[in-house]
Amino acid sequence: MSSDLDQRVTLRELWSRAWTVRSWPIWEMPRRVASSIVLVELTAVALVVTGLVNSPLPGAGTLFHLAVLCGFGLVHAEIAIGVERVRQRVTAGNHVDLSSVWTFAAAIVLPPSVAAFVAVVLQTHLWLRVGRPRVALYRNVFSTATIVLACVAASNVVTSVNGPTGRMPTDATDLAGYGLALLVYTTVNTGLVAGAIAISTPQPDLTRVFGQWDDSMLEIATLSVGALAAVALAVNPWLVLFVLPPILVLHRAVLVRHLEEAASIDGKTGLLNAAAWHTRAERVLRRGGSDDPRGVLVVDLDHFKAVNDTFGHLAGDQVLVAVAGALRAEVRERDLVGRFGGEEFVVLLAGLGVAGPAELTTVAERIRRRVADLRVEVPTPDGPLSVTDLSVSIGGAVSPEDGGDLRDLLQIADTALYAAKRSGRNAVRMGTAHAPQLPSSMSEPPTAAG
Ligand code: GH3
Ligand code: MG
Ligand code: MG
Repeated sequence: MSSDLDQRVTLRELWSRAWTVRSWPIWEMPRRVASSIVLVELTAVALVVTGLVNSPLPGAGTLFHLAVLCGFGLVHAEIAIGVERVRQRVTAGNHVDLSSVWTFAAAIVLPPSVAAFVAVVLQTHLWLRVGRPRVALYRNVFSTATIVLACVAASNVVTSVNGPTGRMPTDATDLAGYGLALLVYTTVNTGLVAGAIAISTPQPDLTRVFGQWDDSMLEIATLSVGALAAVALAVNPWLVLFVLPPILVLHRAVLVRHLEEAASIDGKTGLLNAAAWHTRAERVLRRGGSDDPRGVLVVDLDHFKAVNDTFGHLAGDQVLVAVAGALRAEVRERDLVGRFGGEEFVVLLAGLGVAGPAELTTVAERIRRRVADLRVEVPTPDGPLSVTDLSVSIGGAVSPEDGGDLRDLLQIADTALYAAKRSGRNAVRMGTAHAPQLPSSMSEPPTAAG
């Protein structure tokens, strides 16, 4: 799905490619994904065309509102262009698009097909000015189609609850119409995007598919400002000017959150970096009561230097990514997994339950076995190779038995890790007296297969 993400596509190239339908990047995706995307796009086009054919030509008032919303949308996009470019660079995948202020306002005051026009203009402009170097055209067409469908659905809700579009909300029913339209807009848009991510991602999780809670709140905030913009537009178009400052400040605030998130992530593995892990782990330890056991694991790859020496640093990096994936796969979403530095990882597990130390040992053993089973494909000048026989040594400590302080827990887990290394590596050792000390199996340096 991301094969052409980083490639700069000039308009001239796009124009020439447009005539060779078979070369479109969309066909590089699995047939199931490509056909779902095309179905969504065709539905959007069909609804807009049917709407245009079945409704009278827009009057001067409608055209004026259309021009005002497109105009303000373009001004907003141009002022916020620097912020949007940084957002695009620091966020992986989709992010909430603040132009929905204008498209949702359009859904309220304009007939459905005319409102869809605002979405097409603003999305195309955003892609040309911000997205184009990195975001493939078909992805932009798909997200425009989801916004068009959201607009058409929300506009129909407003029309059926509030009567002809553009009428001001005067009573509770009218207000409910706006609220319902907001819910329908966000449900249709989020639902379609989530569906596309779910079918195109090998192992989708809830956060990946639906985005974070903060993103949903941002979407609701943006649509709420859009509803106010619609009311302002109906009273006096100049009033819409008052919408610009809050939406631009919101835009900046969102960028700060993205930068904070980016600063807490280890670029190589996507895990938390050491500083962010520390801060969050301390917060978790402070929050929990003494009857809620929490455990810390320190995980160190065995003989990792040999991987670098044998296969090169790039292969070493791929092994680090694979081990990070193995760690994530063996713990729950709420557990904190971080890269401490080099080939050393750290995990904080909360809510271990009454079986605290034994449960921590079980998780550590699962991690150890999963890493031992890894086969990491690495490209070499002589063709692809699989790195196998990887292993980790793991040291653990449990709160409150080993102390409530993060520093104490890390120190004890680190001592246990060195006990695991001394015992021959590929082993788990616990700092606590409660946990069984499992025998180790001697580890040899990693080897290649294939
Ligand atoms: P032990 O079993 O005792 O842990 O042996 P080891 O070889 O894993 O440990 P050692 O501390 O001797 O070597 C760690 C190696 O990890 C050396 C360093 O070059 C490598 N390393 C650290 N960070 C990275 C990284 O980001 N990428 C790669 N490819 N290698 C890294
Ligand atoms: Mg090591
Ligand atoms: Mg080490």
